[in-house]
Amino acid sequence: MNAAHDRRPMGLATRAVAFTVGLVLLVTLVATASVWFGAERERTRHQQTLAQNSARVWVESMRQVLTGESSAGMTSIDPTIDQVLGTRDDLRFIRVMDAQGRVLGEGAKSDADTAFATRLAEQALERRRTLIRPTGHDGALAVAMPIMHEGRMLGVTVIAWARETYRFSVLLALTPFFLFLGALLLVTIPVAIIVVHRSIAPLDTLTQFAKKIAASGQAAPIDLKTGDEFETLANAFNHMLSKLDASMRHIQQVAFVDPITQLPNQDRFQRDVDSFILQAKAPEDAGAVLVFEFQRLPKLLQTLDPEAARELVRLVAERFLNAVRTVDRLVRMRPQGEGMIAARIGAQDFAVFAANIASPADAARYAQHLNAALNQPFEWRSHKLSLAAHCGVALAPRDGRDADAVIRHARMALGAAHTAPARLKVFTQSLDREASARLMLEKEMRGAIERNEFRAYFQPKINLATGRIEACEALARWVRPDRTIVSPGRFIPVAEESGLIGPLSDAIMREACWKAAAWARAGTPAKVAVNVSALQFRSEKFAEHVLGIVRHAGLCPSQLELEITESVVMEDPDRAQRLIEPLRAAGVRLAIDDFGCGHSSLAALSKLPFDVIKIDQQFVRALERGDAQATAIVEMILALARALDLEVVAEGVERRVEAEFMAERGCHWIQGFLYGAAVSAPEFSEMLCRQAGEDVLADDAAA
Ligand code: C2E
Ligand code: CA
Ligand code: CA
Repeated sequence: MNAAHDRRPMGLATRAVAFTVGLVLLVTLVATASVWFGAERERTRHQQTLAQNSARVWVESMRQVLTGESSAGMTSIDPTIDQVLGTRDDLRFIRVMDAQGRVLGEGAKSDADTAFATRLAEQALERRRTLIRPTGHDGALAVAMPIMHEGRMLGVTVIAWARETYRFSVLLALTPFFLFLGALLLVTIPVAIIVVHRSIAPLDTLTQFAKKIAASGQAAPIDLKTGDEFETLANAFNHMLSKLDASMRHIQQVAFVDPITQLPNQDRFQRDVDSFILQAKAPEDAGAVLVFEFQRLPKLLQTLDPEAARELVRLVAERFLNAVRTVDRLVRMRPQGEGMIAARIGAQDFAVFAANIASPADAARYAQHLNAALNQPFEWRSHKLSLAAHCGVALAPRDGRDADAVIRHARMALGAAHTAPARLKVFTQSLDREASARLMLEKEMRGAIERNEFRAYFQPKINLATGRIEACEALARWVRPDRTIVSPGRFIPVAEESGLIGPLSDAIMREACWKAAAWARAGTPAKVAVNVSALQFRSEKFAEHVLGIVRHAGLCPSQLELEITESVVMEDPDRAQRLIEPLRAAGVRLAIDDFGCGHSSLAALSKLPFDVIKIDQQFVRALERGDAQATAIVEMILALARALDLEVVAEGVERRVEAEFMAERGCHWIQGFLYGAAVSAPEFSEMLCRQAGEDVLADDAAA
């Protein structure tokens, strides 16, 4: 918290006390000043009286000297003055003059006063009365007193007194006032403090309340019944607090609750798991994070209007929550579901946190029960639905120091759950290692694409009618600088996940088209088939892009065949048709790859503008095992192709019997290790040249 917050709001109290003290000081100052001036006046009067009395004594003795009453003669005035000045510190000077203004005697401690004394003496002689004047500096006082005898003025005496002798007595005069001031302060300060504190106590309460709200955002309402502005202020505070509370609740709702399902959202889930991990102390303070994905849900939602989609998501959330509660009761023996949080952490992802599940085996058992409960079919709008739940599990804190890590690991396990038994997977370190290895591979692949290390290899396709290599399939190979070759089985899944499949497939298509154009120019033509990835097919400009490559390579479009897997085509048959149309119009041939693997309806298939069907290798393998069902399927595909006037390629043919089987049933093309695996471009052109040479020899022999 910043310092401004901690500063006491006692500005008011301090100011009140300071004001009181200031007032007391001012009053004392004024009182002291008036006392001082009173004392000063008194002192001046006293000095005047003193001076007048002393002057009177002097005048009397001068009168006696001047009238001869005294035994001392006229000449004794000067020495007397010197003697007196020598013994008295308070006397500054003395002058005696006769009525004509002649100086009869004089003594001074400084010359400065002489002129002043003369002027004052003359005035006293003129006015025939006593004059008292400050000398003008040092505050000294001069008295000029006429010397009278029987109504006649004999002369004048001027005496000046210094002032210093009174200083100390002034301080003494002030002492009672200082004592009074001290006593006053001693009494007033505590009284002022008490009074101020009493009067601002409600303000203090309000301040504490405001501080509490500022610090924690909450506080109990204040109860102030002072009946004044403080009470009004307290009521206003209470009102504000209740509004703030309501707003906070609303914000919490918006920030942490999924608006559609009313379940906690991802942020809330993460916070709760984090706080569980933070509080965990003993090893048995463990919990499991389970992340669920419902495989059928995304596709289903795509087909629904937004309102129906929300309704379905709500229903799924309800089923999810019920399943979790049931399993919690049965497996974890928690009838009230304590230590359990069910949340919606993504558009189609749900999660559960279950406390007190410490071992992977317990977590797997819990997940298995949940999967089973969730996979129960249910009815919605007269549809029978099954969710096909998958579950990834990670343990907290075993699999992560924070919620983020644990949830990430649970998601990683979910990725592996798709191919795992019981559609569930508990996170293991090896999963993490695999993910890291994938990341590494992805990084390497980016560099490899730039260095052009992905090359097209060509697998021959035999036309069964002629028994000659008349076509090939381009298959990607990663030829590393050390000449080792990586097969697509390793890099295609990573390329698909990372989006690198796009540039990779492009590179293969470009090379395949250039090579096929070169073979045609060399007089050894061979059609080339190129595989199309789901990602490439997603682009609206797919046809334009392919035709651009074909034109650029100078290849006749009819020499190119595009292999698109059945599953990609069937994702959206209408769209597939739209994308394919311009290609077919240009003369490019289209093949359905891996036919028989998907679950497409034959009716839908028959409407699509394809030229070729490629029977998947698994049926050829099954033939070899004498699988009657596989035989029937292959025969059916061949019959269908005949009816739709499509060509058929059997791939993965490794034995002569398989080739014969296909030939007998009207299959057009054969591809497989029986005739050769994919080879590099130079090797394949050599194969074509060799075949052309053999043809010439055969022709010659026939001739
Ligand atoms: P696919 O399109 O079904 O390709 C046929 C796969 O079967 C090739 O594997 C090929 O080498 C293999 N094969 C051919 N004859 C036989 C045989 O007699 N016996 C056996 N056991 N296998 C045979 P490959 O080259 O490993 O390719 C695997 C998959 O990778 C391909 O399956 C294709 O889906 C994908 N792929 C390969 N190259 C590309 C490419 O350039 N682009 C795209 N998008 N996918 C590619
Ligand atoms: Ca293929
Ligand atoms: Ca295939």
